Amino acid sequence: MDPSEALLRPSEELLALCDCNNFFVSCERLFRPDLAERPVVVLSSNDGVVISRSNEVKAMGVQMGEPYFKVASLLARRGVTVFSSNFGLYEDVSRRVMAVLQRLSPLSETYSIDEAFLEVPSGEGEPWGRMVRETVLRETGIPLSVGIAPAKVQAKLASERAKRTADGVLAAPRGRALADFLGAFPVREVWGVGRQMEKGLKRYGISTALDLRNARDDLVERRFGITGLRLVWELRGVRCFPLEERETARKSIQASRTFSTPVRDVQSLCEAVTEFAVIAGRRLRAQGELAGSLTVTLTSGRFRDAWCRRSDRRLVHPATDSDLRLIRAATESARCLYEDGADYGKAEVTLSDLSSAREKQLTLFEPSLDRGSTLSRVADRLNAETGRKFLQPAILMGEKAWRPRKDMCSSVRLEELEFLPMVGWQGE
Ligand SMILES: [Mg+2]
Repeated sequence: MDPSEALLRPSEELLALCDCNNFFVSCERLFRPDLAERPVVVLSSNDGVVISRSNEVKAMGVQMGEPYFKVASLLARRGVTVFSSNFGLYEDVSRRVMAVLQRLSPLSETYSIDEAFLEVPSGEGEPWGRMVRETVLRETGIPLSVGIAPAKVQAKLASERAKRTADGVLAAPRGRALADFLGAFPVREVWGVGRQMEKGLKRYGISTALDLRNARDDLVERRFGITGLRLVWELRGVRCFPLEERETARKSIQASRTFSTPVRDVQSLCEAVTEFAVIAGRRLRAQGELAGSLTVTLTSGRFRDAWCRRSDRRLVHPATDSDLRLIRAATESARCLYEDGADYGKAEVTLSDLSSAREKQLTLFEPSLDRGSTLSRVADRLNAETGRKFLQPAILMGEKAWRPRKDMCSSVRLEELEFLPMVGWQGE
């Protein structure tokens, strides 16, 4: 054994991934107990796609992310109750669930709106997991799956399996039984293995989580880098992604500007929010974070009789740092808010539900999943190196009447752009 490997022993301490079951559906059911055993789906903000399914709907073969128009008639025929998303409600319920989890463990990491990693008190295991599950269910009404293991990647697999157990709790087995446990998972179900990496692994005959755990370190590192290697070690129970306590709920990134002349047409409005989404996206990537939601706020100018301020918030699911996806959400919101005849004096784009991009970097192997993220990073580098907007969305090229005068100057440096007095950053 390589001397450095001697340090890489499986962790003695355990952590638990607590994952709310069908979270958005479970939230809706809190207020509709009559739907407890009934099929339910929740749609994305503009009723575009299915983002949460009850088990009954999963059994019908409806997939996550399925466009609603494709399944609408099936859902109607089968008597499925359909909800538009109510993100405020889900956040509120999430805060309550997380507060209970934090109370039950010495250290916890809120990982997403419906997932948290908890440190398992020493000597505890599945019975403790059952206590956690029962407490959360009793105090919030939300059912959880609890997966227990020495490392996050193993815990994620355990929580997937836990969904099929009677009590919703499963500890990844140790020793020889771990091989059987890992052998039952296709490699693509391992956290962080995307389609692209799956293809790469197939060429080396690696098709299950067990094969991946047993893969040679040098091969994995050469082909998939240190992040790939960490993933393999995590499958061996070596903790490479530590528990991080962090505040995610209150942080946000905002880009806003008062227009030089009032904006009256939807095209200019879309251009403006595109620019703000790009500015906010750059800051997001610089901080190494992903955004889980985006809000556009429009303020009508002083030129209009009735002053008004309206917002539209969209869930970005899964969380992203891709300009392409942020722009899409921002322009959809702008179109949704736009009212004919209004004079808009100011627009804001706010990114919130921020989470660390570090674990999600695993999905860099998965260009088909978020190619926009890679593209955005390339743009950041080129723009920083050339000191100007070398790469930017075509919609932003040319002169724009709504921009402050200085911004029309083609030689303006990005650094200056950020510190123009009308551009406001706000980290809360
Ligand atoms: Mg969940």
